[in-house]
Amino acid sequence: MIKKLTEENSILNQYISELRDVEIQKDSMRFRKNMERIGELFGYEISKTLKYETREVTTPLGTANVPVLNEHPVIIPILRAGLPLHKGLLNVFDRSESAFVSAYRKVAKNNKFTIKIDYISSPDLTERTLIIADPMLATGASIVATYKELQHKGKPKHVHLVVAFASVEGIEYVKKHLPARKFTLWVGAIDTELTAKAYIVPGLGDAGDLAFGVKD
Ligand code: URA
Repeated sequence: MIKKLTEENSILNQYISELRDVEIQKDSMRFRKNMERIGELFGYEISKTLKYETREVTTPLGTANVPVLNEHPVIIPILRAGLPLHKGLLNVFDRSESAFVSAYRKVAKNNKFTIKIDYISSPDLTERTLIIADPMLATGASIVATYKELQHKGKPKHVHLVVAFASVEGIEYVKKHLPARKFTLWVGAIDTELTAKAYIVPGLGDAGDLAFGVKD
């Protein structure tokens, strides 16, 4: 299932436009903050799909029956670009546990790359609801590799993929390689092109570099 949150106008479009803007994105604090705010908006939308149970809460003046989450999703940023989205999601799901996965592109001389996962730190994911956060779904290879690696930590109940920008090709790849009944893809903008180096066009550039500085 794909949920595109920019289908109707909301403040999300303002954040997306600032992330794309070659001048505004020079302000790395604003860049991170906009990604974090997008994480919060996605978190709120995802919260509407989760299960709740009624809890009796004692107030100073009486009692109230209030629906509260009966399960807290595990939030999983793909390092390092996923960290600002992770912060926003954790602002919403403040009782959640996190897992961390580092996935990077190992580029060969012909510009082809393979995804390397060097680091993973995770609770048991058996029957848990997961939110995997990566700002850019370009080829889809990192997200698919991340999910496959996480399988060693248990079989989750459902997985929400949160991406701010996706390419059409990346979405097709994810649809082909991940079981549809287990996944919901939450996306901000969908762009049509990828460069030879698999950057999204028009996209925004390199999300990790813009948030944290150019890597060596
Ligand atoms: N990762 C990025 O940071 N940007 C892209 O356009 C694609 C992948």
